[in-house]
Amino acid sequence: DNAQPKKPDWIRVKAPTSKGYQETHKIMREHKLVTVCEEAGCPNAGECWSQGHATMMIMGEICTRGCTFCNVATGRPDDLDVFEPGRVADAVQKLGLNHVVITSVDRDDLEDGGAEHFAMTIRAIRKRSPGTTIEILTPDFLKCDPSVLEVVVEAKPDVFNHNLETVPGLYPEVRPGARYFHSLRLLQRVKELDPTMFTKSGIMVGLGEDKQAVHQVMDDMRAADIDFLTIGQYLQPTPKHHAVDRFVHPDEFAAYEKAAYGKGFLMVSATPLTRSSYHAGDDFARLREN
Ligand code: SF4
Ligand code: SF4
Repeated sequence: DNAQPKKPDWIRVKAPTSKGYQETHKIMREHKLVTVCEEAGCPNAGECWSQGHATMMIMGEICTRGCTFCNVATGRPDDLDVFEPGRVADAVQKLGLNHVVITSVDRDDLEDGGAEHFAMTIRAIRKRSPGTTIEILTPDFLKCDPSVLEVVVEAKPDVFNHNLETVPGLYPEVRPGARYFHSLRLLQRVKELDPTMFTKSGIMVGLGEDKQAVHQVMDDMRAADIDFLTIGQYLQPTPKHHAVDRFVHPDEFAAYEKAAYGKGFLMVSATPLTRSSYHAGDDFARLREN
């Protein structure tokens, strides 16, 4: 049975039409950059892009993994583009971003998983826009030598984000090819390598998990010293993707947020439209002021 629960009112979003949106769009096209905002059909694109917030996806549009919630194409990726870090840095400068989020497809085909390309991109942005805080949202580097993580950490991003995406019980179905404890351990190692670096992770809800499992994930994250947490509603990108199990009520999100702060996270965003990169800059700026 493929019947999907009806979209509730709290999911509706505005169509992207503003001038700021057009400007962001233009800069992305001119620099031949891929954004996760577009690839994922993110419901916040109208709001984020009108304010110049965008999440750039490096290392191509084709992923070596096939997560069942994700709209990115699976296959054999293109060769790395050595000029991409420069184009990303240029776009970040033109957009005048205070905070930028850089993510990528998974590159199991590369020996270092793309670690050096991430590091080059961070350094290129830093050089052109020293005042911009940099958040990276990385793949899991599962097939790589553990030392590749050091290459990324040494480039000193301000926030190291890697999403657990869902509860461990749903991994075989939702995130085949990934390992829950590997992803947790990756974030814990980031903290061990550089205790001053903020670590961040997130999950989607509405995939079929129960509340108790969500609380367990939060506990696991805190045990791995993860600082920031995002929880958002899963939305099915196309009918071929994993079905929405339920639309989680805003009150349940509010309860997760409260519980998460109680468990010691420094920053939590848990709302139906929360995405890994939603308001990331604003939240981070607020945290640094306090
Ligand atoms: Fe892009 Fe993230 Fe904003 Fe969505 S929430 S539009 S992915 S920056
Ligand atoms: Fe999508 Fe990332 Fe999974 Fe690739 S690894 S299919 S980009 S969620």
